[in-house]
Amino acid sequence: MSPTPEHRTVIVVGGGPAGLPMAAVLGGWHPYYRDSAMLRQRYPQLAQMLAQHEGSLLTLDFTDLLRAGIPPADMFRLLHHPRQMFQGLEQIALEFRRNAAIDCLLLTQEEVGGLWNNVPEKLLTLSPGQWMEFAFHPLAQYARETGQTFDVNELLIKQRIVDYYHQIPRRFEVEQNVHTWERVTRVEPHPEGFLVTAADVSAWRDKDPVALRRPAFPQPADVVEQSHPTRQYTCRYLVYAVGQRGELRSLGVPGENLPFVTQYYEKPAHFPGERVLVVGGGRSADWAATELYDAGKQVHYVMRQSSARHWELISESRDGLPYYRRIAEILEDPEAQRMQARYGTTITKIAASPGGQGGRVTLATAEQTDTVEVDHVLKEIGGWADYSLLQGFAQPLQLVEKRDSYRFQVNQAKVHPHSYESVDIPNLYPGGYLAEGLGLVVIAMHGTTYAIAADIQRKEAGRR
Ligand SMILES: Cc1cc2nc3c(=O)[nH]c(=O)nc-3n(C[C@H](O)[C@H](O)[C@H](O)COP(=O)(O)OP(=O)(O)OC[C@H]3O[C@@H](n4cnc5c(N)ncnc54)[C@H](O)[C@@H]3O)c2cc1C
Repeated sequence: MSPTPEHRTVIVVGGGPAGLPMAAVLGGWHPYYRDSAMLRQRYPQLAQMLAQHEGSLLTLDFTDLLRAGIPPADMFRLLHHPRQMFQGLEQIALEFRRNAAIDCLLLTQEEVGGLWNNVPEKLLTLSPGQWMEFAFHPLAQYARETGQTFDVNELLIKQRIVDYYHQIPRRFEVEQNVHTWERVTRVEPHPEGFLVTAADVSAWRDKDPVALRRPAFPQPADVVEQSHPTRQYTCRYLVYAVGQRGELRSLGVPGENLPFVTQYYEKPAHFPGERVLVVGGGRSADWAATELYDAGKQVHYVMRQSSARHWELISESRDGLPYYRRIAEILEDPEAQRMQARYGTTITKIAASPGGQGGRVTLATAEQTDTVEVDHVLKEIGGWADYSLLQGFAQPLQLVEKRDSYRFQVNQAKVHPHSYESVDIPNLYPGGYLAEGLGLVVIAMHGTTYAIAADIQRKEAGRR
């Protein structure tokens, strides 16, 4: 532990799609209004108002805008995506110019790009790829700069999105402000603002998630502070962008940690043998169950929800998403004996086979209990946003539960709606959709980046 903490103006915790753009914008890349025929045509009043604004849009009065009924995240979304489909770069009513940076350090416990580093190899985005881009670096521009040809309005495969996020620090010359493989273990009050304790978890870079049976970064239960080198920082402002999966959920049943039970799914090749039990019922579980079935596995697909509830999600998605078309086809096919969907069912126990590989899973419904023999159990039961790092504050964060029709859920923190600053802990900004009221997708949350940067810039100017 360093005796004197290193002081930074801003620390961003988490380098996913919420935290990562903060490094570039605080690194000086500020948005300016740029004329867009599309914006003028669709949102003439907004275009007219912003055309009169001189200087960076970080100097706008977001309280006034909010009074006029325009939340800042929504305004930046409209400037970035004046229509949902991308036609050309000229439709984006923003340009970015480099100004003075605010000192900022981003700490993240894996590579930048957040949970996208660990999603299945062939996973496609749920939405047009360009909905996941940052306004300061449209995917179309990225494709052009890197000599690639792809349609940014298509659903994009995971690796494309990850490659895009990975190059952001270098492309925007903020690499030195990004520390990967550094896990924040505590955030506490300090006379300077915040005291941040972080552990060097670079040794985790070489861990194999298949052998580990979960994504290769630490969980709160790993208590890395005791076993890894640590250092401390102080900062005036803290952006808390740890995402929705900092703490993986568990089933809480005996046998859950047996070697044939995993919480990591990348591809069917990691599941030798024939019989896989998938537990879950959201999008990640649907993806894995479908892909395992199509790879020839016998799939026991176990979920607590009713068939009607599962089919709500399938019916909503089967027209837009190819894997939902496929899961519907499988579940509707009376010949598809290798897929057994078990609704209203919970796992009560997992036990190893006496003879070696695999084991026996006990399942309970309201009416009966039975067991199935399987080679693998795959838990696709998601995680929680981990707020436990925040310790010793006079006022704990007030959290509100948010769910969406994509079956994502997260506890969001109450914030001031013009700045996304916590109402409970001054100068703390829940990043992305950890802020109350934000939609649980990148297109809905990305605009908070600018409002947070604007608030920090305004406060820093007031100190001079
Ligand atoms: C399977 C799946 C598919 C999805 N598809 C889409 C989609 O198509 N379109 C869309 O817009 N959204 C989608 N989402 C929503 C998704 O959550 C967002 O795309 C996005 O990844 C959220 O960004 P984030 O930065 O808030 O969180 P994350 O991506 O989770 O990033 C947070 C980062 O912080 C790190 N971190 C956590 N705790 C600490 C700590 N203590 N110290 C240091 N680092 C820490 C994490 O390891 C992670 O790298 C999907 C989500 C899932 C699960």
